[in-house]
Amino acid sequence: MKQKQSMGIYTCIWIIAIIILIVSLFQNLGYAKVINYSGIVRGATQKLVKEELQGEKDDDVIVYLDKIIHELQTGQGENGLMKIDNEKYQSQLATMEVSWDLMKKEIQNVRNGASEKRLYELSQDYFSQADQMVATAQNVSDQSLVSSITLFFIYLLITGGVFAFWYHYKQRQIKKVMYIDKLTGLHNFLAFQMDVQKKLETLNDEVYLLIYFDIDDFKYLNTSYGYTFGNQLLKIVAQFLSKFIQPQGVCARNGSDNFYALFPYSEDVIDHFKEELRCDMKAHTDLDIIDDITLSFGACLVNSQNDVQNILDNALLAHKNAKTVGKGCTVWYDQNLLDKLYQENMIIKQMHHALVQHEFQLYLQPKFHIPSLEIIGAESLVRWHISEHEILYPDEFIPLFEKNGFIYDLDFDIFRQTCAFIDDYHLLEDFPISVNFSRVTIHHKDFYNELHKIIEEYHIPVGCIEIEITESAFNDLSSAIIDMLNRLREEGFIISMDDFGAGYSSLNLLNSMSVDVLKIDCQFLLEQESKKEQIIRLIVDLAKTLNMKVICEGVETKEDIQLLEKVHCPLGQGYYVSYPVIHDEFAKRFLREKEKALL
Ligand code: C2E
Ligand code: CA
Ligand code: CA
Repeated sequence: MKQKQSMGIYTCIWIIAIIILIVSLFQNLGYAKVINYSGIVRGATQKLVKEELQGEKDDDVIVYLDKIIHELQTGQGENGLMKIDNEKYQSQLATMEVSWDLMKKEIQNVRNGASEKRLYELSQDYFSQADQMVATAQNVSDQSLVSSITLFFIYLLITGGVFAFWYHYKQRQIKKVMYIDKLTGLHNFLAFQMDVQKKLETLNDEVYLLIYFDIDDFKYLNTSYGYTFGNQLLKIVAQFLSKFIQPQGVCARNGSDNFYALFPYSEDVIDHFKEELRCDMKAHTDLDIIDDITLSFGACLVNSQNDVQNILDNALLAHKNAKTVGKGCTVWYDQNLLDKLYQENMIIKQMHHALVQHEFQLYLQPKFHIPSLEIIGAESLVRWHISEHEILYPDEFIPLFEKNGFIYDLDFDIFRQTCAFIDDYHLLEDFPISVNFSRVTIHHKDFYNELHKIIEEYHIPVGCIEIEITESAFNDLSSAIIDMLNRLREEGFIISMDDFGAGYSSLNLLNSMSVDVLKIDCQFLLEQESKKEQIIRLIVDLAKTLNMKVICEGVETKEDIQLLEKVHCPLGQGYYVSYPVIHDEFAKRFLREKEKALL
């Protein structure tokens, strides 16, 4: 479109230039004709006088010359001669006309027998006057030609200049749209890539720092304090950033609240950046929330050997990780991050196939009575048999599945395997198996129905199933979910709160909904000697007061058993009795024992 427009203007300029040339050409043709006819006047008059002097009369030539002289003076006549508006030329023509009139009278006199001398003299004068007139016409024509050419070049110069200026202006406009971020005036990502490339080419031994950062919870700030405030914040950050990286750095905004910058590395430079930016924000805004605003950084060191695309990806990857670590964090790129990314991609690519191929295997870890160590149940735990020799543990894939929703399929796959196990070994309510359900799964609209469908498919008594939900999930349960969990309890399912005390305290929730079992987080057994007894005792007492069962996780040593016995914690789970083992082995090791014990 833009190219078409400039082509149009370019063509117009040339058409006008050609018109100027053609007009001046025609004008000069006109001059040439006038010069030619002036010459004819001069020649024809001489011829006429010669004939008259020889006694030959030629009135036709006299009429012809009258007409031409008249046409030369007025520009009107049958020969298409133009009138030359030049004072000197016109006065010479007037003088010639007077001489011509005198000559015409003298011709009559000569015809009537007067002396020829006077006519001859007049013709001599007339010849020199005609000569001067032709010279003047020639002059005027030359001048006109010079001015036409000059005008043509001036025209070309001016239009060329205007066109060049316009073209340059348009290019700048296009560059602005293509490379400049409208809101902040910083370069955009496209321009930044080129800036970084240029910068890297100029580096010698210097080490530079590439950062990619964003404002945490920017969406929240936008919606809570208004988009005007959000935009103001972005402008402040942009202005500060472009000052901070001067004079050697380059920076850009990559849409929304994401910024890139590349500048010389120095120790603690990111901390200084954060501090100074905070001061700057405070100085430029009235709102009292600046102290709560945090930035997450991905950072990587850069030298001249690096490839632009790689380092941009690295900073991005580091930033992505910073966002998962927590607000206000800086994560530095290193090879481990990349390995983690490969691993995550591999997991996501293979998960569906793995489910179909039964690579997610049911492991069981016994729960036991304290102090007798009698096995009273088990917990289902998943292991991914990714190949014959490699097993992945839940922490490596469950957080990913929780993010992409696949956890729902996995949880029900393990639940189905658990039900099949219970069915195969005819387990009853006195030997419940607990199954972990992620908060994502319990929030799924089909959770309740799917649970029942599978239970019914295997004819499992509901009391055989303990639903383990981690404490942090309890923290944001909606009332609809609480109602559903209460309904499941009424139906006979056992509900247990996993990892109790691990982070979010859900004491409040214990008030609004009842659970059957508290699972004390394994971390408590790792606490300092003096504290752990008191804490565990407190939780055990709390559970008893609320009429709940209580079990302690992470029982690893004889001392742990003694401590739990001391605080009257009746149940335990942990490596002291057994690691989680694959279901067949669990059956062999623990169900046979149970059967033997029953005999
Ligand atoms: P969790 O539910 O708290 O499971 C107990 C974890 O503690 C298990 O780790 C288990 O192997 C480990 N453990 C058992 N005894 C001891 C001990 O004496 N000392 C120590 N230090 N650890 C012990 P695992 O199997 O790696 O599972 C980690 C977490 O993954 C589980 O924590 C659970 O939250 C989750 N998970 C496992 N399987 C599933 C599943 O099928 N679905 C869902 N949604 N989550 C699962
Ligand atoms: Ca659990
Ligand atoms: Ca646990």
